[in-house]
Amino acid sequence: MKLTHCPHCKKNLTYFELYFLRKEDEYCCPVCKESSLIKISKYGKTLASVMLIGALSIVTFSLLLIRRGTFWPIIFVFVIFAAFYFLVPLFIELEII
Ligand SMILES: [Zn+2]
Repeated sequence: MKLTHCPHCKKNLTYFELYFLRKEDEYCCPVCKESSLIKISKYGKTLASVMLIGALSIVTFSLLLIRRGTFWPIIFVFVIFAAFYFLVPLFIELEII
């Protein structure tokens, strides 16, 4: 999967730049000094929904069918959310304001 770039000057952004941008609303390009709107792609939103449904299914399944005292469902849900947390920069898109 390809990382996004500045929509004005096409400067490619690194994973770490995008990782720190994920909580911002606006990106100001250091090269062309133009601002862009930061958005999460449709694919990223779909994946977030699928992961949330998967995590809820695991919790429900473990509460109903697995005996109490096992930690694997908690660990599995944690791994799902940790994976998504580190994949978020791949789903960031920049749009011209
Ligand atoms: Zn730029």
